[in-house]
Amino acid sequence: MSGSATTATMTTLPTTDTRTEPDTSLDPANPADCAHIVDQRDPANDITTAIVEGREVTALCGYRWVPYREPKGRPVCEACIEAYGRITGS
Ligand SMILES: [Zn+2]
Repeated sequence: MSGSATTATMTTLPTTDTRTEPDTSLDPANPADCAHIVDQRDPANDITTAIVEGREVTALCGYRWVPYREPKGRPVCEACIEAYGRITGS
């Protein structure tokens, strides 16, 4: 045996969406097309676990959905931004 150590990186999440530009076909008025903010202090809203287990998380605005990828290029939900401002006491 050579004794060489190999660091294996487990990749469990599919990265099939390779778009880098904002998708202009997204509708900011449609909650399903928005990037929502979740309260990560609540274990029930752990995005990583939710993706792996395919369960819903609840956004600050009350919208519930099953996260499946990074919401890159999406307009951020305005209601979530407002709620986030209240939580952080800005
Ligand atoms: Zn929202």
